[in-house]
Formats: sequence, C-alpha cells, structure tokens
Amino acid sequence: MPTSKSKSPVQTARRRNPARAKSAASTATTSTKTPRRKSSRAARETETIPALPMRGMVGFPFMVLPLFVGRDKSVAALEAAHEGDKKLVLVSQRDETIEEPVGGDLFSFGTLGEIVQMLKMPDGNVRVVVEGRGRVRVTKWTQTDPFFSAEIEALEEIGAEPSPAVEALLRRLKSDFEIAVNLSKNIPSEALQSAQSNDDLGALADLVVSYLEVPVEARQAVLEILDAQERAHRVIELIAGELQVLELDKELDSVVRDGMNENQREYFLRERMKAIQDKLGDRDNSFKEADNLRTRVGEAEMSDEARDKALAEIDRMEKMPPIAPEVGVIRTYVELLCDLPWNKRSADVIELSHAQNVLDEDHYALEKIKDRILEFLAVRQLNPNSKGPILCFVGPPGVGKTSLGKSIARSLGREFIRVSVGGIHDEAEIRGHRRTYIGSMPGRIISAIRRAKVKNPVFMLDEIDKLGRDYRGDPSSALLEALDPEQNTAFSDHYLEVPFDLSEVMFVATANLLDPIPPALRDRLEVLRFPGYTEAEKHAIAVKYLIPKQMKENGVSEENLHFESDGLDEIIRSYTREAGVRNLEREIGTVCRKVARGVAAGKQEAGGGKREAGGGKQEAGKVRRNSGVLSKNGKVSPPPASRLLPPASVTPSALPDFLGARKFTHDVAQQSDEIGVAQGLAWTEAGGELMPIEVALVEGKGATKLTGNLGNVMKESCEAAMTYARANAKHLNLDGDWTQKHDAHIHVPAGATPKDGPSAGVAIVVALVSALTNDAVRRDVAMTGEISLRGKVMPVGGVKEKILAAHRAGIGQLILPAENERDLDEIPAEVRDAVKFHFVENLDAALAVALIRETKTPLKSASQNGGVKKSDAKPAARKAKKYA
Ligand code: ADP
Repeated sequence: MPTSKSKSPVQTARRRNPARAKSAASTATTSTKTPRRKSSRAARETETIPALPMRGMVGFPFMVLPLFVGRDKSVAALEAAHEGDKKLVLVSQRDETIEEPVGGDLFSFGTLGEIVQMLKMPDGNVRVVVEGRGRVRVTKWTQTDPFFSAEIEALEEIGAEPSPAVEALLRRLKSDFEIAVNLSKNIPSEALQSAQSNDDLGALADLVVSYLEVPVEARQAVLEILDAQERAHRVIELIAGELQVLELDKELDSVVRDGMNENQREYFLRERMKAIQDKLGDRDNSFKEADNLRTRVGEAEMSDEARDKALAEIDRMEKMPPIAPEVGVIRTYVELLCDLPWNKRSADVIELSHAQNVLDEDHYALEKIKDRILEFLAVRQLNPNSKGPILCFVGPPGVGKTSLGKSIARSLGREFIRVSVGGIHDEAEIRGHRRTYIGSMPGRIISAIRRAKVKNPVFMLDEIDKLGRDYRGDPSSALLEALDPEQNTAFSDHYLEVPFDLSEVMFVATANLLDPIPPALRDRLEVLRFPGYTEAEKHAIAVKYLIPKQMKENGVSEENLHFESDGLDEIIRSYTREAGVRNLEREIGTVCRKVARGVAAGKQEAGGGKREAGGGKQEAGKVRRNSGVLSKNGKVSPPPASRLLPPASVTPSALPDFLGARKFTHDVAQQSDEIGVAQGLAWTEAGGELMPIEVALVEGKGATKLTGNLGNVMKESCEAAMTYARANAKHLNLDGDWTQKHDAHIHVPAGATPKDGPSAGVAIVVALVSALTNDAVRRDVAMTGEISLRGKVMPVGGVKEKILAAHRAGIGQLILPAENERDLDEIPAEVRDAVKFHFVENLDAALAVALIRETKTPLKSASQNGGVKKSDAKPAARKAKKYA
C-alpha cells in the first residue's frame, strides 16, 4: 500500500493543538463554507493512505473509537494500515445500507485516524481501536480494490483562540450538554465529566455532538465545519433539538412503563440497547454474535444446567462493550459449551465376531489379551449399562498397547482419543483451571471429549504409572473421579463449571509398570499384561504388519524392495533391543526411506550403490534388469522408469548399507564352564537380559565386598548368600573355616548400570559356592530366584521376559523357582521346546543343576582360585536394570 514517507501536513496537524494554531486565517471571524488548506504548499502536501468506510457513524479528531469491522475491503484497509504506519482515513457512508460502496457513496470529509489496537477474531472480523488525529479531506480516490485508498490533505481548524465569544460558547455548550446528559439515559455521566474539563471549543463541540442522538448527516455537517465557533453554534442548535426529543421521550417512557411487566421491560431495555449500539455502529456485529451463540446453544442439546449457564453468560457478554477483553473469554467459554457432545454418540455396534476379526486383523498373537477384551465386550453386549472394570494395558513400550486400544474403538465403531497423563503433577491439568485465571482452559479430559465430538469414545489414558503428585494437588484423585462409574455421570471440570456426563466413555489405561500406579487407581483397573515378544513373534509381526505398513507409508512396493528372512532377523537381533516392536518398525521405515529415495532418484540403490545384486532371486512375472515386465502371456512390455532395476534386497550383509553399523551384540551364553560365575537374569523395562554374577575369593577374614552399583535389596541378597554359605559349610562340602582365610568379592559387571531386586539370590549363591568349591558352573545354565536363609527358592516376577532373553542368548537350561511354573503358560511353544526348565524349591536342587560336581576337593587357597575366568558375556546395556 503506497504511503508517502515525506513529512506530511497531516502529521503536522496531528501534533498541533488547533486551539493554538496560528495562521493567517486565525483572525477570521466569519465562517467559511470552504475549508481551508493548511498551507500554500498543499499541492505537494498530500499523502495516500487506506480509507475505512463507516456506516451510521462519524469519527472525530481526539476521539477513541472502538470499531468492529467485518467487510472484506475494510478488513483489508485495516491490515494495510496496520502493516504501514498505522494511519488511515475514516470516512462515513452517505447511505449506511450500501454494502459495497463506491467512491461517490462516501463523504469526502473525514478524520485521520491511527490504529492503537487491533485484534483479529477467529471468524475473520477485526476489533480495532482507532484514535482520531485531525480533519482531512479526500482529494482523490486512488484505489477502490482490494480496499479504498485515498489521497488526502490535512485541514486546519480555526476560531478557537481564547476570547470572550469563545468563553461564552464554551459555557453555553457545557451547560446545555449537562441538561441533555441528565435527561438522557443513553449518555454516560463520564461524558459530562470529560466535557466539563475540555476547554478547547472545537474539540468540545466534536465531543458533545458525538454523544447526541442525531443523524449521520448532522454529525458529518459538524465535522465539515472548520471554524470552532461556528461549529459550537451548530452543536448548540442540535442540543436544543435533542432536548425537545428527550423531554418527549421521558414522558413517553413513564406512560409506557406504567403498563409494562418485567418481560416487556427487559424486551424494551434490550431494544433500547440495540438502538444505542446501533447508533454507535457496532450493533450489527456484536448482536449478531450474541444471537449466533444463542442459536448454537439452542442446537447443542445441552444439559439444562449448561444451557442456563450459557445463556446467562451470553446476556452478560451482550452488555459489555465489544472491545472488552472479557467478551473474548466469555465467547470462548460459551463456544466450548456448544462444542461439547452433550448428547451426541456414535452408534455402538457390539458384534463379537466382527470385533474378533478386527482385533485379529490388526494384531498378531496376544491371544489371551484379545480373549479378555472379547469377554469384556460380550458383557457390554448383554448389559449395555454394565459398569465393568476399566481395562489397563501394562507392558513395555512398543508392544501394541495403543494400537490395540485403537482396534477396540474400530471394532466397536467408536471414536478413539488418547491423552497422555504422564508427568502431570497439577490437578488442574486434569480438571481445568477456574475461569478467573487469565488464559484458563478446560482440563485434558474435557478438551479430549470436545475433540472426540461424541460422548462415548474409547478414551485411552496413557502412562498412568507416570502420574505425578505434589503440592499442586493430586491428579490421581481427579482421574479417579473421571474413571469411577459411581461418580463420573457428573464429572466436574473447574473451567466448565457445570457437570459433564462421562459414564458412556469407555476408558482404557496404559502403563509400563504396575507398581507406581497409585493404589486407589489400581483398584479400579483390570490389568492385562503385555510381556513382550519373542524374536519369532517379532519376525511374524514385521512380515505381516510392519513391513507392509512402512512400505505403503514410504511409497515403495514389492517391486522396489524385498526383505529377506535372515535380513529381518538380523535387524531384530542387531539393530534393536526391546520387548516391543517400535524400534523395529522404525528401522524398517529407515530401510524403506532409503529405497524410496533411490527409486525417486531413478537409481534404486541402497546405501550408495553397494546393494547386493538381487536379480538372481527374482521370480518370473517380476521385473528383470533392463528387460521389461514379463506378463502372464509371455509378452514383454517396456518397463516404467522406476521399475528398471530389481528390488533392493535386505540381507544381513546389506544391512550396514541401509542402517549403518550394528547397534547391539546380543547376550550370548558363555563359551566354557567357569568357576565363580553364574548367569543371572535381569528384567528391565525393555525386556529381559542375561546378567552374569562373579565371585572371587581373596585372602582375608570372611568379609564381603560388593561392587557393580548394587541397590540395597541386591546387597542384602549378597549378605544372605554369604550367611547361607557359612551356615551350611558342612552340608555344602566347604572348608569349615573358610571365613578365617578368605574375603569374598561379589561383582556384577556393567558397573555403571544400577541394579536392584531380590531375584539374583540363586545366581549369587551358585557363583559363591562355585568359587568356594572350585566346581565350575555349567555354561548353558541361567537362573533366577529369590533365596531365604534356610535355602528356599522363592518366586520372582518378569519370568516371561527373562525366559525370552535366555532363549535369545542360546541358553539351554533354566533354573526357576518352583512357584513360577505357572508362568510357563505364557511362553510360546517354540521357546518351551528349546529350553530345558528346572523348577526348584531349594538351593540344593539349584546347585545340583548348575554346578559340575567333578571335584570333591576342599577349598584351595585364594591364589589358586583368586581370579574368575574372564567372562565372555558382553557387558549389559547401560540401562537401569532391575531384578523383579
Ligand atoms: P505401545 O502403545 O505399547 O507403546 P504401540 O501400540 O504404539 O505400542 O505399538 C507400536 C507399533 O507396533 C504399532 O505400529 C503397532 O501397530 C505395532 N504392533 C505392536 N504389537 C503388534 C502386534 N501384536 N501385531 C501387529 N502390530 C503390532
């Protein structure tokens, strides 16, 4: 928008008080109908600025005008001015009913304005505050599209210098205005105060006329009078006319009001207010807005309480000036009330066979969990109002908890929403902030329901084990209220203020660990455990789901890419270490992207062209190098450009090209039977791991040294193992006074990783007894179990993950507590067949399996037995390890 950068007369006029303006014309006592230009250099002193056409109102200098602007051209003019030096000219429309005025429809006298505040509303309208700066005249319309732009010249005001005549006019104007204010109900008393304190005759006349209920033409006429005294005369005449009307109005009022009841009175007042706002120019928009909101409230099928609240808020909003900040707050609130699905729901289709198909279609294995979900749905089908337990999926990341939730929603034909509550400390995040706060919002539950647009979605609460709790309140109690079927028919959100019924929501929670879930919350949950997948399961999931999904997402087809079975296994083993399949999916995605890039570049090369030749593996009907597509009838059609090359083949040797160097070397069983080292089994959030325990004897007096970043519980297991060995020296065939000669050093490698938990007990005893007796520990045995001082082996957790880890590492025999035999149910048959399980009740049985009792020689000196043969088990990953 072209704006002159030169110092314009308009800017000069803005700074100068017209009362004090000295000019040749200032002595003129006669009025002039022809406005004067500010100086003889006027021809050069014009500038071009955006123009804002106004309907039903006239702007005056030194006035602050709040405007609500909706017409496209006007909005464009405001934007142009706002981007420029904020100046624009306010001009009134001759006929306010014209929507699309042309230059001739606008008065050419206007007011130079400056934008002091501008706020764009979401619906495209603009609220703006413009301050009048001076009288101007449009000399030329320079542009009408996309907005009006005018060449203007500034006009000088005259006749306001102090003189008896001016003083007399000032007094008269003020006293007449006082009478008008007292009679009128529409002129605020502040107007009188500012009039009383204004001693600039021209400005006072402007101020007074702006409050009078006179037609636009009359105001415009006042605007066009440059002589202050003449203007004051004109305004005094207008007041006189207005006073007559006001007197009549008052009489009428008392007559009408006598026969009016409350409703009529309210109607009357409302109409009255509309009339006032009409005069002020913003009636249309602000009332339209309130009316729109009322219509939306009517359509929203709210609870009675919510509807009453919404209507009351709209009434309150209507009484405020449109520019007031609270208007926005109220609008946002009422819009939330209108958006919430008070009575909208998806039609529930509970059909078990369909649900089963969907669950099977989306997920491999997980049979037990799917069964439980189907039972849950069956109960819902028989009794739709059943307030069954809330399902909680517990397991490591990437095992399909979220995607199973989505499948449940899909099988029921319901919406799915997900909210993570991990890391929330503040109750207000769940339950919302009270509306008294600036920027307050509803809580996550109500916000999610709004997004869902229906009141019966499947609602997944993620990471409830990571819920915090501190001085800001206890979010778990707010969650409980949302989840508890006894209470959630009227869930209260601080922001919403009125209760919302959550009873039709189907909540599903997820967690990585069960222990940290607050007990009161855990009570309401039915826990379904996802223990993680075996390599074979991961392989199957990748083939059936992850590879097709990633290939599709990355736009590569079977003609571009082929995963070899051993290549996939290698990705699973050497590029991921996890119980779930999330990283596996990511790595597969990386391969697909590399290939996609090659295809897009027309090269179809992976890892910079070092791809293996996969051509030899092609079947008939697929693509041959530089040949063409061999169709069923044997004809060859020319190949499309992207299909000239054979598919990139993902084999173990090609993997470094796709994915870089191998990230993990997996735990492997020891190469030889060793003395003083036992394979324990650790459980981490990412699944199971092997964890060798080393014991070395050194000269000393029976002291114990523990290293390897052990937690308290694990340290106690070591102490218990030592005591057990002492107390049972004879029974274990140990040298009776070994404690007089030796200290025992127990070390768990990967010293930087913290380890804790009681389940290493058996492995510690085995390693210790091995060191003391010099009997080697079988290399293919791993073990887990808590011990008691009496030599009992007690059950532990995380058994499935530990068994899977042992199997992966090539362990052939496992020593497990007898009571953990029940966990074997969950183990895939292929693992059960490959591993020999020894379920033991006591340490004797464990030692009998683990130790190779060849020698019955008593304990040798420490120097002979001081070192443990170097374990070739690789150090465990630097992850928090925990014995379950
Ligand atoms: P979680 O919520 O447990 O962290 P996700 O549900 O996000 O895990 O699962 C990660 C990815 O693995 C998803 O793409 C999901 O579809 C896939 N996935 C996990 N388990 C299976 C399974 N049994 N069958 C098919 N895909 C699975």
